[in-house]
This record gives sequence, structure tokens and C-alpha cells, in this order.
Amino acid sequence: MLNPGPVNVAPAVREALGFPDVCHREAEVLQLITDVRAKVARVCGGDDRHTSVLLTGSGTAALEATLSSVVPPDGRILVLDNGHYGERMYCIVAVHRIANMRLEFGWHHPIDLGAVDKALADDTTITHVAVVHHETSTGRINPLRELGALVRRHGRSLVVDAISSLGSEQLDMDLDEIDWCVGTANKCLEGVPGMSFVCAARSSLNALESVPARSFYLDLYGHYVSQERVGVPLFTPAVQVLYAFGVALDAVIAEGVQARTARYAALADQVRTGVSERGLQIPLAPETRSTSVTNVEIPAGITYAQLHDDLRAQGYVVYGVQERAGDVFRVANMGYLNGDHIAGFLDALDRVLLTAVVPG
Ligand SMILES: *Cc1c(COP(=O)(O)O)cnc(C)c1O
Repeated sequence: MLNPGPVNVAPAVREALGFPDVCHREAEVLQLITDVRAKVARVCGGDDRHTSVLLTGSGTAALEATLSSVVPPDGRILVLDNGHYGERMYCIVAVHRIANMRLEFGWHHPIDLGAVDKALADDTTITHVAVVHHETSTGRINPLRELGALVRRHGRSLVVDAISSLGSEQLDMDLDEIDWCVGTANKCLEGVPGMSFVCAARSSLNALESVPARSFYLDLYGHYVSQERVGVPLFTPAVQVLYAFGVALDAVIAEGVQARTARYAALADQVRTGVSERGLQIPLAPETRSTSVTNVEIPAGITYAQLHDDLRAQGYVVYGVQERAGDVFRVANMGYLNGDHIAGFLDALDRVLLTAVVPG
């Protein structure tokens, strides 16, 4: 699978799905929740002040729980948008009728930190800023560290969608001045789909007591209190998925985020060198590329559907793009992959391109 999540997982993670049938209020599940919460905080670079809250659901569940729970009724959130996922954060905020300001930079542009600085200086009603760390739609890494420092300087809270960056990009709750860090099991953390989470300081989570919930199921404070103080999950979690996520987190911790970043970067390099050698263009400038997603121009003479289906027939799944869908395809090197997988993909691509150029 060379799509940006869900991903191929290690055998140990898949085997963990065979975790026994067990009631979610029994001691072993409560211990599992406690353990996984601690591992998540660790992978986010948290310290003793931080913890995490687990949610059953895909990454969007944790993102919506966070965006809908942290902004008080008299607050206002500035959404930074330079791609599909920035746009989606705006949609989430709009659905919940949260007061907002949206800075739209366009899909093919970086976040303009000067514009953010100005917006925060001009509008003192803004209490929160939301950003996507790795804009998966374009494969761009947004400048988290600079933004974190800027938002802190203005005394506002930073919400980070780190769903497709955690595990393969450098990110740190403290160094990046992150208040709310949202992630999911099934991207670069290499778990199976179904669990998502938010990492934050306990003090920030405790302060949510005074913010009325906008959702019953996705009430972040409710989930936090339940997991932290009551010791039982608020609703029935996907227990087997959670257990498998714990195993996947053990692998991240054993490998080390830095080593995983290096492994992903090497695979991304192999993809980029390979497609470039075949004459295909990569639109995004090298210095802003992530270590896990490469957008590639579709060559003349073949459609995306044909490219996808022919590669799929040879065992490789590539992905489309929400914008410029006919012109660009995506190759992700997320998951339990090695150089042989990428080499196999490049061979398959050769066969597809050969047939496309010389039909029949
Ligand atoms: C994948 C992704 C999401 C969430 O997608 P789900 O389908 O809910 O898991 C959100 N933001 C980013 C940046 C993503 O890559």
C-alpha cells in the first residue's frame, strides 16, 4: 500500500488483533488504556505535565473532538489553510458554528507567517490557532516550530493536526509549543485504523471543565475525565484495535522517532529518485517535502484511473489527489515498508508506462 494511510502493518501488530474478547471495564483493558495513553504522550515528545486522551474513531474523530471542545463560547479560532486538510479543519469549525477566521493561502503556497503574525496582532479576540503539520494532500511540511513560537509570543493556544506527521517527522510538545496535538493510529505510527488521540498538558485538559461541550460523543473533557479520573472509558473502545496500537507504539519507541524519520526519508528519497529517473515531475520544492508523501505529475498518455488500476493489478496501491485529480498522483511510503517494496513499485511503474506509451 503506497497510499497515505491506512498502511501495511508489522506482523506483530496484525497478530495483536487477536486480543481476547474482554469487557472494556475489566482491569486488563483499564491497564491497556493507561499504558497506551502514556506511550502516546511519549511519542509526541510530552513530559510529566502531558498526557493523552484516546478516542475510538479515525483521525477526524480526535480532530473534531479537539476543535469542538477547546474553544470557549467567547473564543475564536484562526484556521490556517493551505490544502485539503486545512480546508477540512475549517469545515469542522464551521459545522460547530465556532467563531473563526480562515487564512487561505492556496494549495500550492506556504503558510505566510507574516500574515499570521498580523492577524494575531490585529484581532485580539482570536484565542486559538489551528494548523496541519504535514498537509497530506500536497506532501508539504508546514513550519511548525516557527509557528509555535509565534503563537506562543502572542499568548494564544496552538492546535496541531499531526495525523500524518507523528512518527515520521520531528515534533515535540515543548519545542514546538503545541497545546493540542492530534494524531491517529494508522498512518506513520503503523497501527490499524480505528483509534485516534490528542496529547495535551493535564492543566489544559483540566481547564476544559469550564468550556461547555458542543458534542456528546466527541466531548474531549468527558473522555479525559473518564480516562484520567474515573479510570474507565466513557464509551466502548475498539479494544482489539487499541491493543494492536499499543504494540505499534512499542515498535515506534523501540525504533525511535528519529530513526523512523530516517527510514521514511530514505524510502521517500528512493521514490523521488526513481520517478525522476523515469522523467516524471515532482511539483513540490524539495525543501518543503515531507518524508512520507510524494506528489507526482501524471505523464501524458495515461489517465489516473488507468495508472491506478494497472499498478493495483501488479500489487501496488497509489492514491489520487483531491485537487488537480487528473494531473497528479500520490505515492506514500508510510507503513511497514522497505526498499524492496519501493523497488518493486518502480518496476511495476516501468511496465505500466511502457504499455501506456506503446499501446497494445
Ligand atoms: C488522514 C488525515 C486526516 C484524517 O483522516 P481520517 O480518514 O479521519 O483518518 C486528517 N488530517 C490529515 C493531515 C490527514 O492526513
